[in-house]
Amino acid sequence: MSEHEHAGRCACGAVRFRLIGETTDVIACHCETCRRWSGYFWAATHAGRDALVVEADDTLAWWPSSDIAERGFCSHCGSSLFYRRYDADRVSVAPGALATPTHLTTAAHICVAEAGDYYALEPGTARLAGPDMSS
Ligand SMILES: [Zn+2]
Ligand SMILES: [Zn+2]
Repeated sequence: MSEHEHAGRCACGAVRFRLIGETTDVIACHCETCRRWSGYFWAATHAGRDALVVEADDTLAWWPSSDIAERGFCSHCGSSLFYRRYDADRVSVAPGALATPTHLTTAAHICVAEAGDYYALEPGTARLAGPDMSS
């Protein structure tokens, strides 16, 4: 956990937000949905829903990626930004959308059983075959 305020935005800048308060280390998810959605693998830091303050959302769209969760992205530039389960009071935020330095570190890889065959996981980081983040 780190206590910090992050400024975030999508690639084109149409979606802008702040993350205020505690955020977790970054978890990288290698499930098939995250692979296809991001084009590689998706990773996120986690925070309480109240910690995410969206300041500009004209192009923010939500895709219901499963029965239990939805994913937020910019409908103009396509940046994959957010993930949230309907039953959870937290939100997952792509660290790549945050201004640097983020002071975050990647702590674990999940769903590695579904990882793509075009990259290797860096050694020394925790790995879990599951669970899904989840879709
Ligand atoms: Zn955008
Ligand atoms: Zn995933």
